[in-house]
Amino acid sequence: MTRKKKNRPPEKSEQAMIEGIIEGSPDAVGVAVIRLDCGCRKMAAVDKEGEPASKVIMYRDMAESICEQCKKDNGDFKRVTEQFISWVAPGPAAPVKEMIIGKVLGTREPYTN
Ligand SMILES: [Zn+2]
Repeated sequence: MTRKKKNRPPEKSEQAMIEGIIEGSPDAVGVAVIRLDCGCRKMAAVDKEGEPASKVIMYRDMAESICEQCKKDNGDFKRVTEQFISWVAPGPAAPVKEMIIGKVLGTREPYTN
């Protein structure tokens, strides 16, 4: 595996967004990160009950706005390529994490088209 150096790896910019969301959401125990096939991202803070702790934020790296496709379908679930929750350290206990993941990301298979 070769690792190319990039000036702004997406993970880093995601991390900055995550931190910003957490700062603005005192109840957040984590931030749901949803990556779409077009390169845009959806993010939202979640509280310890698995309820939204912020509004859903959509953004695109190094762009002023999300892409045309996302403007049309609002980041349709069918186009999700990856989704996970970035926990606020140290994060809730494992069973709580599972409950939140199930509630927020759902039990639907995210990788099928
Ligand atoms: Zn998009």
